[in-house]
Amino acid sequence: MIGAGVSGLTTAACLAEAGWVVQVWSAEPPRETTSVVAGALWGPSFQEPMAKTMSWTDQSLVDFVALAEDPATGVRMAPSLTVGDLPADGEMPPQARSIPDLRPCRPDEVPDGFTGGFRATMPLVDMPRYLDHLVARLADAGVEIQERTVTSLAEAADVAPVVVNCTGLGARELLGDTELQPVFGQHVVLTNPGLDMLVMELAMTAEWTSYFPHPERVVCGGISVPGRTDRTPDPDVTERILTRVRAIEPRLHDAEVIEVVTGLRPARSAVRVEVERLGSAWCVHNYGHGGNGVSLSWGCAREATASAVQLRDETAGRL
Ligand SMILES: Cc1cc2nc3c(=O)[nH]c(=O)nc-3n(C[C@H](O)[C@H](O)[C@H](O)COP(=O)(O)OP(=O)(O)OC[C@H]3O[C@@H](n4cnc5c(N)ncnc54)[C@H](O)[C@@H]3O)c2cc1C
Repeated sequence: MIGAGVSGLTTAACLAEAGWVVQVWSAEPPRETTSVVAGALWGPSFQEPMAKTMSWTDQSLVDFVALAEDPATGVRMAPSLTVGDLPADGEMPPQARSIPDLRPCRPDEVPDGFTGGFRATMPLVDMPRYLDHLVARLADAGVEIQERTVTSLAEAADVAPVVVNCTGLGARELLGDTELQPVFGQHVVLTNPGLDMLVMELAMTAEWTSYFPHPERVVCGGISVPGRTDRTPDPDVTERILTRVRAIEPRLHDAEVIEVVTGLRPARSAVRVEVERLGSAWCVHNYGHGGNGVSLSWGCAREATASAVQLRDETAGRL
């Protein structure tokens, strides 16, 4: 496995739990990846390949609902309020059909400045804690994570018959995949003054309002700047995020800023979960999840694992 973000760790867990001997190589430790920056809300994906991303997010929902039974995983089923550019009731896209408890807001539930909204119950993932959970799950299965930067897939194919490529945006350089583009994001992380419900604005603009409460922190956003590679936090963006979230939730005025974090979403024309020949070995790619890598993680991991199992069975059949 190359990569120890949410894609790599989840796929490594699926493989190890299916009986594979797995080694994880990663340029960065899990808590320094893009994945740790995510909010992270499970939600529908509108990425290509559309039919697959729908079924991958559905699969992830099943896994996150199960994980939420144990709060130590960092996953919980959170009450949610979605506002902004929403379809009228009855015109929901098919991607919305699996959102648990989805219903239109009553007028008294809509914050000032918005015309309507939807309530639901959605998996919310406290990423630092969740990545720690995945690392512990891998350790239990005997899988170690080695800090190691790979300069070619062949380097991994020298030691493994199946290489799984979960390098996120790193695949741009590793494979020369120019379909991958960075999309800058920034979060302001506050102490939690006692919030439980997450709020997400759907907007066609570069900036929107969102805050995701976890037990000890509230992750506030959001911004999306395609093509920006400089990860330096922008103080003006921080101010705008704080102004927007405090306008909706006054209790956030008294919350302290813990940190400002940034990350580059690995956007691609289509999420790539695909098998490729690598000399005498095989590569299973699993990258390019854009702003939905957490939501897609279990579905993609299970498909990548099924591909690896199929390769092994086919290879065994030829021996
Ligand atoms: C601000 C922000 C908010 C987000 N919010 C959400 C959300 O609410 N919900 C959601 O579903 N998604 C969200 N996302 C998107 C999500 O974070 C990403 O899609 C996801 O983290 C991608 O995971 P990954 O494991 O594929 O990549 P990464 O987390 O980037 O991991 C890639 C791994 O590959 C390793 N690597 C790369 N190149 C090499 C190499 N050459 N050799 C060895 N190792 C290498 C890296 O070190 C790293 O370990 C958000 C992203 C951002 C930035």
